[in-house]
Amino acid sequence: MEVSRHPTSCGIKNLYPLLLNAIQDDLVSLVKKWEARVGAKETEVCESMEMARTVLVSAGPQAQHFMVLYNLYYTPAKIASWGKTAGIMCPRCGCPKADLCHMFFQCVKLGSLITGISDILKKILKQTIYLTPQMVLLGVDHSVCNSRDRYFLFIAMSVFRNCIASLWRDVDPPRFNQWFSQLLSMYHLENSLYELKGAAACKRFTRAWAPFSVWLLAPRMCRLNK
Ligand SMILES: [Zn+2]
Repeated sequence: MEVSRHPTSCGIKNLYPLLLNAIQDDLVSLVKKWEARVGAKETEVCESMEMARTVLVSAGPQAQHFMVLYNLYYTPAKIASWGKTAGIMCPRCGCPKADLCHMFFQCVKLGSLITGISDILKKILKQTIYLTPQMVLLGVDHSVCNSRDRYFLFIAMSVFRNCIASLWRDVDPPRFNQWFSQLLSMYHLENSLYELKGAAACKRFTRAWAPFSVWLLAPRMCRLNK
């Protein structure tokens, strides 16, 4: 007798490439939307997808990235476009055009969170990072040359998207501490998952999280003053 299994993170991970294949036909039009709205190029969209596949082991952030990347996330603008609910606005600031760019970057209520993240990224990566809609939504930025730093930036933005998506119904935007707490949780989760995959995979974890690990393990006073 066949025993049905509960869905697992592994199951979700298997679903991810299937979903990608399912939307291949519409990929060109989706990419064109991105070019127009975020200023991204097709190669950057592909790179962003590849980063989600290779840098992150956890299935949850991968699925969330996929939803945001392909505009499947339910923004107020998307719900309004179905025509059943007129005048649906950003629950945080009341903006009538609450699309992906607004919900994840342009909303005025996200200002202090974005400033807080920029400040800590400067300490961790030792360079000023100017967050853009393209970087927040896709996680890629070619002004950051070092691939190791780019991996970590991708992870940090992935946590940012996760944070906003998980609190999407709240009137108050996520706070910096919530983002940092999710980042720390993902650090430990990814560490455990990579360890289960063996020594070769552990090297990938070490590489992707290196800037954060160095900063986190530095003495507290050094961390605060850097
Ligand atoms: Zn808003």
